[in-house]
Amino acid sequence: LINDFEDKKEDLMSRPPVVTVMGHVDHGKTSLLDSIRHAKVVETEAGGITQHIGAYTVDIDEKKIVFLDTPGHEAFTAMRARGAQVTDIAILVVAADDGVMPQTVEAINHAKAANVPIIVAINKIDKPGANPDRVKQELTEYGLVAEDWGGDTICVPVSAKTKVGIDTLLEMILLVAEMQELKANPNRTAKGTIIEAKLDKGRGPVATAIVQKGTLKVGDSVIAGNTYGKIRALVDDKGKKVKSAGPSIPVEILGLSEVPNAGDILYTVADEKTARQISELRKEKERQQYFASTAKVTLEDLFSQIKEGKVKDLNIIVKADVQGSAEALKQSLEKLTNDEVRVRVIHTGVGAISETDITLASASNAIIIGFNVRPDNMARQLAEKEKVEVKTYRIIYEAIDDIEAAMKGMLEPEYREVVTARLSVRQTFKVSSIGTIAGCYVEDGKINRNNNIRVIRNGVVVFEGRISSLKRFKEDVREVAAGYECGLTIERFNDIKEGDTLESYTTEEVKRA
Ligand code: GDP
Repeated sequence: LINDFEDKKEDLMSRPPVVTVMGHVDHGKTSLLDSIRHAKVVETEAGGITQHIGAYTVDIDEKKIVFLDTPGHEAFTAMRARGAQVTDIAILVVAADDGVMPQTVEAINHAKAANVPIIVAINKIDKPGANPDRVKQELTEYGLVAEDWGGDTICVPVSAKTKVGIDTLLEMILLVAEMQELKANPNRTAKGTIIEAKLDKGRGPVATAIVQKGTLKVGDSVIAGNTYGKIRALVDDKGKKVKSAGPSIPVEILGLSEVPNAGDILYTVADEKTARQISELRKEKERQQYFASTAKVTLEDLFSQIKEGKVKDLNIIVKADVQGSAEALKQSLEKLTNDEVRVRVIHTGVGAISETDITLASASNAIIIGFNVRPDNMARQLAEKEKVEVKTYRIIYEAIDDIEAAMKGMLEPEYREVVTARLSVRQTFKVSSIGTIAGCYVEDGKINRNNNIRVIRNGVVVFEGRISSLKRFKEDVREVAAGYECGLTIERFNDIKEGDTLESYTTEEVKRA
């Protein structure tokens, strides 16, 4: 029913690049997008008001560039996890007075995992503390070597405030786009990606799509994810009604029956009836699979894919409590590479395992190794939903042994940890003869006095040991279930704090089939 096909070479025509701006918070992503828009769009539109539709285009000497208006690698990777990749070039914004920061590194890794070329915009060069050379120096540690330093990464010093360097940045985007030879066939049924959608009081569901192949026209019947409709109107980024939109061009679509999701793929189909049929089929399938997940990335799956020759890479994301451990683990893991399997650490980071890590894993077919860190609540839920495997360790060589053993075909370790309960520490009391008593609430599971216990602070494991006493209202108890409060003390650990999370756990032998 959906007619997607590879186009013949002779039908392809060049199309504008689609650009995403990424970088650390406050480094000027939004300001840069605004200053490009103001410098280029208003000027050519002779006072025309620009409309926010999730993306905008600028014209430079008859050439176009399309900017996605949702900056950041989170949105970028979330779309990728849904199977959509609209970005051709990533602009990495690094503030010249601040340098490479944790989210800069994340953005680099996310762009690299998607094989998207990076252009660096060294921003805020108007500031007295600006030091572009230091930024270039820091970037070399992440494999980005500036052109003037003998590498192949284009770095452009800019100021979103004074607009210095903006024109050069735009020229560089066109240059990189030209090298990529971006092409699409405009003369076929349309395929695109939804980048934004909402319910508008007056107009009903409105969605912005970027067309990737073909031309989208008013009157077309379309399917986008689960939703369908007949296009009533198309509105461009200047707020103007248009009849059609070709490859790379963002347009707002009116006429969908419901609000689709960002990342949904849009197709033109034969007629409205066909569109509705596909939508109903998809909804039914979704109901059946409500609890089944979309993504599934476990160590075992990765190895069966490798065995079947589908992939050669064992992709891993490493999160650790300190950068040194993350680096050490990355190096040791990558040394495990052999003829059959290439171990690739696609991202390392410091701190709790986050939702973005899970999304990156799901988009890039990677498992996650946490060293002395745990997933936060949202990340744990997402990992369960997406079935992304998260393995956590307290000792580096155990992590390496585990992966090595898996590579030798011994997929499961002999013992496995089972988390029995999660507790939050609500209060602490110091009692001179006993130590620190933690007043806790059992969030889920059931804690037993004989379980082991670990203390987690901001996602980092600060202690592992044994419970020395477990009480309810001064009474010693053996177990406390979810929804109840309890007081506990931990052997040889008195540094427990309000706001800490506790995990009780046991180990069990893995039964082999
Ligand atoms: P984002 O979080 O990356 O989107 O950053 P914003 O665009 O919100 O910018 C963060 C702050 O830096 C704001 O106060 C901006 O006014 C300021 N800023 C952004 N670009 C520049 C620049 O080129 N020069 C100076 N001096 N300040 C800037």
